[in-house]
Amino acid sequence: MKTLWMTKSLMLTGLSTILLTGCATDTVSSDGKLDVVTSFYPMYEFTKQVAGEHANVIALIPVGSEPHDWEPSAKDMKKVKEADVFIYNGIVEGWAEQALQSTANTKRVVVEASNGIDLIEGLHQEEEEEEEEGHSHELDPHVWLSPVLAQREVEAIAQGLIAVDPTHKDDYRNNADRYIAKLKALDGTFREALASVKHKEFVTQHAAFGYLAKEYGLTQVPIAGLSPEEEPAPDKMADIIEFVKEKQVKTIFFETLVDPKVATTIAKEINAHTDVLNPLEGLTAEDKKNNLDYISIMTNNLHALKKALDE
Ligand SMILES: [Zn+2]
Repeated sequence: MKTLWMTKSLMLTGLSTILLTGCATDTVSSDGKLDVVTSFYPMYEFTKQVAGEHANVIALIPVGSEPHDWEPSAKDMKKVKEADVFIYNGIVEGWAEQALQSTANTKRVVVEASNGIDLIEGLHQEEEEEEEEGHSHELDPHVWLSPVLAQREVEAIAQGLIAVDPTHKDDYRNNADRYIAKLKALDGTFREALASVKHKEFVTQHAAFGYLAKEYGLTQVPIAGLSPEEEPAPDKMADIIEFVKEKQVKTIFFETLVDPKVATTIAKEINAHTDVLNPLEGLTAEDKKNNLDYISIMTNNLHALKKALDE
């Protein structure tokens, strides 16, 4: 499973120090628990599930914020520096590499949970066809939205915690196995529910559902690009409107953490309605109050998708 790890020298230094010395007690804080710093919600949730009682897990990116344009404060940097383990998805946290370099800490283990997963490029089909050679492709970071790839991220996190705290290896292994079983069940539910839908196309606010679409044979038509702030050009908007009319799409999905203005405008234009498809880039205060989590929000996503695809 070593290949799931960061391969960069900085990360390997941290890892090999621990593996070589085997001195796990050096790395736990005074309450005997690991201090684990994660980036945004799904990383936090996956880590909590694996760590159980053995770690203090925090998320840097607070409730109500999404990670695409977030930047760490000096206080956040201090947390990154002092962490026993730092866990992030990769790519979506554009600040992470720089933050890790400027807070070098040889004892800290770093897990880039998407490492080792084949990332897809974030351009639309028609743009790719028009593509000039030499244009740089942006990689799609949204692997956590595939219940299959989420299992790989949980496994990478488990390997990280086991490496830094081998004393609790069995607990981490059991916790990871239990959560992975839940994600497998979630995958089964998605696969079964989406196997027999009337349409395959769904319109999203930003291109967050590429891996989910690929997994279940669907086509995502994103209004914005890989980041929700990238608003589409007017001709692109016209293309989307033409596409949804042609495919008779009746639902335009929007998100809870981003202004739904463009989605609402398109919906009005084609006389469609809107619904939430949550890219799990953060919980809202309301989600938290209602004790929603990765699995329950993904289940809500499935119901919303199924309903839209059967219209
Ligand atoms: Zn996103």
